[in-house]
Amino acid sequence: MSEHVRQTEPFRWEGIAVKPYKAEGAHFAGITRQTLFEGGDGLACQLRYFEVAPRGWSSLERHQHAHAVMIVRGASRVLVGDRIVEARTHDLVRVPPRTWHQFQTAGDEPLGFLCMVDCERDVPERPDAAALALLRTDPAIAAFIRI
Ligand code: MN
Repeated sequence: MSEHVRQTEPFRWEGIAVKPYKAEGAHFAGITRQTLFEGGDGLACQLRYFEVAPRGWSSLERHQHAHAVMIVRGASRVLVGDRIVEARTHDLVRVPPRTWHQFQTAGDEPLGFLCMVDCERDVPERPDAAALALLRTDPAIAAFIRI
């Protein structure tokens, strides 16, 4: 990767592909992924940019690795553990290990966020029936989650 990568238009960068969020599945909607930094040169983390269309959502999941997120476009409602937080542009969201999380767009604007993760990380786990039942004991979370 070169030392300088230009933005070509808002939230798009020279030579960086806009990819599907995940390979397959119906457990998310309206979301793309761009890997801005792949790690390497002693950096053990990646920086990705995700963009979620209005009314879109990321998969409801948890894993051992953590996420460090900055919202850079629009607004989000985010499930983090047992909380639903309202996150606006330039807010920070931390997802600790083994914590259920889901990002949803709030409002009519696309949601864009930067997400830092370890290069070496475990595969996300999606909730089974028992985990879903537990999540749904909170009415606010029951109304929020998309699966
Ligand atoms: Mn995740």
